[in-house]
Amino acid sequence: MEYPLDDILYVEMAFGRFYDIGAADSGGVTRLGYTKEEDEMHAVFAELGREMGMEIHSDPVGNTFVSNGGGRGDHYLIGSHLDSVVDGGRYDGVAGILAGLLTMRWARRDGMNLPVRTVAFRCEESSNFGVSTLGSSLVTKGGVGADVAAREGRDGRTLGEIFAERGYSLKPDRISGVREYLEVHIEQGRVLEEYRQRIGIVTTIAGPRRFNLYIQGRAEHSGATPMVMRSDALCAAAELILEIEKIGMAESVRHSVATVGVIENRPNALNVIPGEVKLQVDTRGIETASLDEMERRIKQAGKSICGRRGAGFIKEKTGETRPVAMDHKMQDKLARVAHSLNISHRRITSGAGHDAMQLAEICDAAMLFIPCRDGVSHNKKEFAHMESICDGARVIYKYLQEECA
Ligand SMILES: [Zn+2]
Repeated sequence: MEYPLDDILYVEMAFGRFYDIGAADSGGVTRLGYTKEEDEMHAVFAELGREMGMEIHSDPVGNTFVSNGGGRGDHYLIGSHLDSVVDGGRYDGVAGILAGLLTMRWARRDGMNLPVRTVAFRCEESSNFGVSTLGSSLVTKGGVGADVAAREGRDGRTLGEIFAERGYSLKPDRISGVREYLEVHIEQGRVLEEYRQRIGIVTTIAGPRRFNLYIQGRAEHSGATPMVMRSDALCAAAELILEIEKIGMAESVRHSVATVGVIENRPNALNVIPGEVKLQVDTRGIETASLDEMERRIKQAGKSICGRRGAGFIKEKTGETRPVAMDHKMQDKLARVAHSLNISHRRITSGAGHDAMQLAEICDAAMLFIPCRDGVSHNKKEFAHMESICDGARVIYKYLQEECA
């Protein structure tokens, strides 16, 4: 074994302390942002920090920081999140927090007074309020718009109400003193596994661009309306869905993807021709030009398919985040460090969004991926090896030692 038993046992122990929080009967965990389950996760994180003799503090939006004495002024920030999706896995987010704790534990053991903090950001997943990376956005942007405050969570209360109740601020001071940000995260894909690499050094985090597509046909009697006289919105949607798949395929050469994930059919009745369909489309890419091209072609396909079928077509953009590049110098240094530690690695893009996107707005930021079994995530089957978490921590620890030497 490459790591001392003591390290593996520590990570196992810490992981075990989070294990039962939000456990669902199905075997997964539900730890939604700004709920009591997420609070419990943060309480355990703070406890683990205290047990190491670290200082704990939380900011005005509920993000929790564990810092050694060296982290009081300008510092390196290691972070991730502790919330999950509904019925999610136990490694997404948690792996990065464990890597942060382990790094700080090693620094303490070796008597290194590294200026470092580990942060658990709140509400990274969009599962509760439909917005992702909420905790990190709030403190990097200094607030969120009124539209976000008005969003209702799954329990029917708005984010604004929940913040008021908890005494949190929707217009917090911006986070300061962060020299660089580092995040370890499970890959949530199969690239590292396929290439048998232990670490992925993230080059770019893809920007999602999302749309609602509305198709307006005619809802008429399915028995009385002859085939040639119909405008069937669901048939138009079927054609469009396949076309969007082709568009995604064509742009996959530029690492883009396009997915129709939601379909709403009205009236959704057996004896009525579908009159109205709403599709929700998620496109992602690391190149703005490719995202633009997909958007243009989806619009064109919708117009032409619906036009041919006598249906109306409206495209509405519901969200857009630009692709975010990770810092090049940090990528190169991390690659050198991994190489010197004999930890196999490759550059990789991130299809999923992460807190590192927000931190990149205020400082240099880097991300390391570790393999997760079969690339599965957001699912109870999610699994990563404790050794992989140690790999992430080890690269960060050596990187920080060199930076602070
Ligand atoms: Zn995550």
